[in-house]
Amino acid sequence: MKDAYSFDVDEESAALTYRKMYDAYCRIFRRMGLEFRAVEADTGAIGGSSSHEFMVIADSGEDAVVSCERCEYSANVEKAECPPEGSERPSSPSPGSPRKVSTPGKRTIDEVSSFLGIAPGLLLKTLLFETDKGDVAVVLSGSHEVNETKVKNHLGADWVKLAGEERVRELTGAPSGYAGPVGLSVRVLADHTVRGIASGATGANEKDAHLVDVVPGRDFLPEAYADLRLVEEGDRCPRCSGPLRFSRGIEVGHVFRLGTKYSKSLSATYLDAGGKEQMIVMGCYGIGVGRTAAAAIEQHHDPDGIQWPVSIAPFEVCVLPVTMKNAALVKEAERVAEDLTGKGIEVLFDDRDERPGIKFKDADLVGIPLRVTFGEKNYEAGYAEIRDRKKGETVRVGISAIADRACAELDLKRKECAP
Ligand SMILES: [Zn+2]
Repeated sequence: MKDAYSFDVDEESAALTYRKMYDAYCRIFRRMGLEFRAVEADTGAIGGSSSHEFMVIADSGEDAVVSCERCEYSANVEKAECPPEGSERPSSPSPGSPRKVSTPGKRTIDEVSSFLGIAPGLLLKTLLFETDKGDVAVVLSGSHEVNETKVKNHLGADWVKLAGEERVRELTGAPSGYAGPVGLSVRVLADHTVRGIASGATGANEKDAHLVDVVPGRDFLPEAYADLRLVEEGDRCPRCSGPLRFSRGIEVGHVFRLGTKYSKSLSATYLDAGGKEQMIVMGCYGIGVGRTAAAAIEQHHDPDGIQWPVSIAPFEVCVLPVTMKNAALVKEAERVAEDLTGKGIEVLFDDRDERPGIKFKDADLVGIPLRVTFGEKNYEAGYAEIRDRKKGETVRVGISAIADRACAELDLKRKECAP
């Protein structure tokens, strides 16, 4: 990791520092030639008030990212807000009271839905959590998935975990699959979408039984309606209602506004102009150096190997004499390599006594941006070749001009990624 920390006198100057670091990180990743997104992220175990993750877009990425196709909104799936759509109270709740029906052996949403002939979206899925704030039941529409991070943040809890079979039995009196919010004696939270269910079905807190005609707000009263579910395909952008796109990403950087969380616990204070002790306002900023290199390779490669972006290539030019047996040719290749080094270029000189095919294949695999090749025929005529690893293009250049030409090509490559 590359780590950085900031220490400011108040929230206002800390916000400015955060912005500067955020912008610097954007420039760093742009200069590396990476396609990335800065996404709103949960602060997780590190804590603090807000944070952004820098995600390199790659199919092999371990994290799911949503981004709006219309505006700048981007968030990781843990953090992505769900618009409270469909959460309006239905105008005419159904009359009567819940009815108990027998549902032998039906526990999952799919089983109950098809057995009762009720759409999954109308099932009031009830999940029990153990947390450091006590037990909590979370109710959401059967067609959605719970977002544990949102539950944890809503409760202000340090940890939440789905209750195991044993605990579910203690809390509901029934095996898992039959929990419901009606008559349940633990705190109940409901997702916004539950408010839009005029009449639903849910577990009866009794083995092999469910309740139908259950009206949220009449038959059970959640402590709160909140955004507690995972964003999913088809959801709209919470900022502009535009379509959301899902992609996968590799996290390469993370910036946090820490506020006074750590200065409080460490009593890290300073004296203000009036001689009064104040808490230092902190931020922290990290880049995963190794995973950034890995992510760059994910985005820049072909079947033959790596195509390093010039800014992070271990060498910028590979000088490759096709034979080590032609002393004059080797000497000239060495002279060009020295010339390039003198111009500040990092050069890898392939002086292995191998067949040309092996040297070419390895050069492609290692992926140095430019290859300067000294072949025997070209050399006799006063030429060498420059090959662009990314474009796959080769140009023949007079040996006297080749170092300058290579420098010019590298400059172009750097400009392409200029932040
Ligand atoms: Zn949007």
